[in-house]
Amino acid sequence: MNNYFIILASGQSKRFNSKKLKQFISYKNKALFEHSLEKALISKLFKKIILVVNDKKQIKIKLPKIVKVIKGGKERSDSSLLALKYIKKFKPTNVLIHDAARPNFSIRLLHKLIVSLKRNKASIPVISSKDSIKYKVKNQLFNLNRNSSYLTQTPQAFKFNDLYKLSINQKIKVQDEATLFIENNLKVKFIKGENLNNKITYKEDVSETKKYYGIGFDIHRLVKNKKLYLGGIKIPFHSGLKGHSDGDVIIHSIIDGLLGAMRKKDIGTFFPDNKSKFKDIRSPKLLKPIINILKKNNFYINNLDINLICEQPKMSKYRDKILKSLSHLLNLDKKLINLKGKTVEKLGLIGKEKAIACEVICSISQ
Ligand code: ZN
Repeated sequence: MNNYFIILASGQSKRFNSKKLKQFISYKNKALFEHSLEKALISKLFKKIILVVNDKKQIKIKLPKIVKVIKGGKERSDSSLLALKYIKKFKPTNVLIHDAARPNFSIRLLHKLIVSLKRNKASIPVISSKDSIKYKVKNQLFNLNRNSSYLTQTPQAFKFNDLYKLSINQKIKVQDEATLFIENNLKVKFIKGENLNNKITYKEDVSETKKYYGIGFDIHRLVKNKKLYLGGIKIPFHSGLKGHSDGDVIIHSIIDGLLGAMRKKDIGTFFPDNKSKFKDIRSPKLLKPIINILKKNNFYINNLDINLICEQPKMSKYRDKILKSLSHLLNLDKKLINLKGKTVEKLGLIGKEKAIACEVICSISQ
């Protein structure tokens, strides 16, 4: 194992449009460059990992001994050459060069590249373009044949001595090391790249979907001579839930959960119980306008988890029916709704079958 890994994290991020350099922004709860570093460490494939940066102060984590930080140059090719010069004294067999702006490669790809170096001097991952590409020569447009064009990725893997020789003698500034081989008519082995191994280039590339959570709780007293409604359906039972509306604790909790997640107060704000217009109203009618607010604000539900707390009736018997009803009312896949029945060991009002309570937690995204 005489492999070395170079991470280039000294770019100027000209296209990124942010005050902070791209390689140090937070991405999936870590600085961007840390993703590549972590994978190289976990793979245990490398004797040394060289991290090339322009500003060492930006590194906020403690680095293990096998990681060496060096200062980069003006252009990408300068930084790469500085790193190659630094590792020369260790007499490396193989070297992989990687852009820190690609945090999503797999450790499997590292293995594939190193295996490929047994038979090749240069191995680089490529994918085909999803978009069709045009190019212009003297104001005339041409189509690039998609079947014979490739998008190149990093890490790119090389026999150290061959790459070093080319890098020392390079006259032009190259975008990547594969270009050195191609410009000198040397063979480059293309291996299958990864669609997820995309380069973070623009600010939009790192915008992550935010999740919001809301919690809902409701309890109603059970009274004789009333129908019992739970989750929008009628359940055969000796009593029903007392309330200004039909007392459907499941739907009321869901409404509060959704409003909570949208940060829009609570059910009482929307449906005050001193308004005669809501007297004895069926709860699905209360849910509908809330779903409309959700849609109008471009929210969608990720999932719901519901605890129905009662001694009787037994939830297991009606679970499927309730889930089906909720799925319909919320326009949400049944698989994204979970309903649990909880008893309270005959304790208190709920245990004596005098009340039913419900709590819901829901997650939404915008
Ligand atoms: Zn209620």
